[in-house]
Amino acid sequence: RAKSAGGNRYELADPEADARAITRHGLTTALPAALDRNEFFIEYQPLVHLGDGSVRGAEALVRWLHPQHGVLGPDRFIPLAEHTGLIVPLGRWVLEQSVRQAREWQERHADAGPLRINVNLSPCQLTHPGLVADTVDILERIGLDPSSLCLEVTESALIGADDDLLKPLRRLAEMGVDIALDDFGTGYSNLANLRRLPVSILKLDRSFTQGMQQFPADPVDLKIVEGIVSLAHSLDLGVTVEGVETAAQAEQLRILGCDTAQGWYYARPGPPDRLHELALVDATG
Ligand code: C2E
Ligand code: MG
Ligand code: MG
Ligand code: MG
Repeated sequence: RAKSAGGNRYELADPEADARAITRHGLTTALPAALDRNEFFIEYQPLVHLGDGSVRGAEALVRWLHPQHGVLGPDRFIPLAEHTGLIVPLGRWVLEQSVRQAREWQERHADAGPLRINVNLSPCQLTHPGLVADTVDILERIGLDPSSLCLEVTESALIGADDDLLKPLRRLAEMGVDIALDDFGTGYSNLANLRRLPVSILKLDRSFTQGMQQFPADPVDLKIVEGIVSLAHSLDLGVTVEGVETAAQAEQLRILGCDTAQGWYYARPGPPDRLHELALVDATG
């Protein structure tokens, strides 16, 4: 027994972990050229009004079509881009593409209310001095009303945020850009703190939606969501829920008073034309 234990000591690190580290290194070094070579693309996932089921806009979700590894999700490369600083030009690219896309949707669906676009922001983009100027420049150049843009910032990025960090968000909010607190409920933030933040939307984390999966739903989850919704509404904040996968969840969340929903039940993230189809189905009945 001792011998085999001793033998194990010489099996160096877990080979899978090694492979992951090598890939991570390879991906990190490939990132800058990937941006130049246009290997990134964006999928859009509809945001649906829970009251009437209409499509109100979409969230932009970036992907990397890697020449060897195929399509990589953001969890594989956003942390690397944050680490190397590439997230700033990549984030700017995502914002510009998304704003352009929203403008095109609005032109093609002038009759529907203006379709909106949600774009995720990394903490590093928040501290980058060009954020406000870049955003204003993009909106003006492309001609999208600031109120059609929502920037999503995770709750954890704003925990303990000082005024310097909040200043650019406040400027954007004053211009009419919506700020959403993404993955809300996972960051242990002080609820009273919400008043201090320039946010207009709480985006409830998927973990709450999962609690609504069984019927009847978990009574504790119900109480928590009910409490969050009533707090949010009393502070004039909208509530969006993510990860809605079933009709039962959608119905439960609608009854609880959530405003907007997003999830596979409505549509998976997809190419921009999918939104045309969905919005069109909507408009015609
Ligand atoms: P997020 O902003 O919370 O986005 C929601 C994630 O949930 C997306 O994963 C989406 O595909 C997934 N999702 C949507 N509906 C369902 C559902 O019904 N069930 C389940 N199980 N999952 C659902 P995705 O696309 O892998 O993105 C992961 C995260 O990467 C995002 O989380 C966001 O934080 C980040 N991200 C994506 N695009 C960008 C970007 O352009 N910039 C930055 N900084 N972060 C991004
Ligand atoms: Mg998001
Ligand atoms: Mg989210
Ligand atoms: Mg999430």
